[in-house]
Amino acid sequence: MHEFAHEVDVFIAELDMAVEAHLAWVRRILRCAVQRAMPGEDVLSHEAHTLCRFGAWFAANSAHFETIDAPAARRIEAVHKAMHDAIRSICNRMLDAQPVPDDALEAFEQAQAELLSLLARFKTLVLSSAQRHDPLTGLPLRHSIEYDFTLYQRDARRKQHAVYVVMIDVDHFKHINDSYGHPVGDMVLCHLADTLKRSLRENEPLYRYGGEEFLVLMQCASPAEAESLADRLVTTVRNAPVLLGNEPVALTVTLGLAEVGELEGLASAIRRSDKALYRGKKSGRNRYVIDTL
Ligand code: GH3
Ligand code: MG
Ligand code: MG
Repeated sequence: MHEFAHEVDVFIAELDMAVEAHLAWVRRILRCAVQRAMPGEDVLSHEAHTLCRFGAWFAANSAHFETIDAPAARRIEAVHKAMHDAIRSICNRMLDAQPVPDDALEAFEQAQAELLSLLARFKTLVLSSAQRHDPLTGLPLRHSIEYDFTLYQRDARRKQHAVYVVMIDVDHFKHINDSYGHPVGDMVLCHLADTLKRSLRENEPLYRYGGEEFLVLMQCASPAEAESLADRLVTTVRNAPVLLGNEPVALTVTLGLAEVGELEGLASAIRRSDKALYRGKKSGRNRYVIDTL
């Protein structure tokens, strides 16, 4: 299985296990209450929220949660602690043979319900984001472009920059598959995705458009800037051979760029960049061709 898809699967499996660990913890507390047994440190300690299995797992993965939704991640931390505070106060009252007021039970129930619902929401976010990304390279897939494009065009208009749609197609990729096999071809695609990503600027989103085709959105202040960015991509790929066995194998790409008209839609811009790409292939590959307005 490929790394990106594997990471998603591991995260979801661990999230399910952490929720199960929490539910087991609640069952244990119920048994202690019914059997009048002493609960452990993961219930009675003031640091119980860091001692339970869920708390330990969440602390180890909090950076990942933060990147998905930082405010919701902080809320999980707060409600988890609130839930532990509530159950500790309930247990201490029971151990002192004191009655447990309704509001203490309600505080526990509410905090637990919010915790479980936040975790379910994270699970949905991770799974729906995985659907929008390519399991092989981890890049966003083509359906994301339509939504991003409108925002991208608006942002460029504000800065008085021109938008370029860049179609990138690997040269003679069939030869890689035929010579080394499909799994090696897959690995080469990951290498190319990394190489392209490294040479792009932060505001230049890269998508896996199709088989061995990638798409980039670019904003440029001048035609010369577009030329230099396109040249940089072609040169970077050419200078970043992939190691197959111990042998460095050179790869090249051909780029078709379309300068996008102010009122032009994505479909038309992609058609024009495709035509430019075709011209690049016909004229010898390992180059870029720009279709200006
Ligand atoms: P050209 O320079 O004209 O682009 O030549 P090419 O061989 O790259 O062109 P073509 O479009 O004929 O071949 C693309 C190949 O990419 C065919 C297909 O089997 C392969 N391919 C598409 N998606 C994948 C994938 O996910 N993994 C692997 N290993 N191969 C793929
Ligand atoms: Mg192709
Ligand atoms: Mg190709």
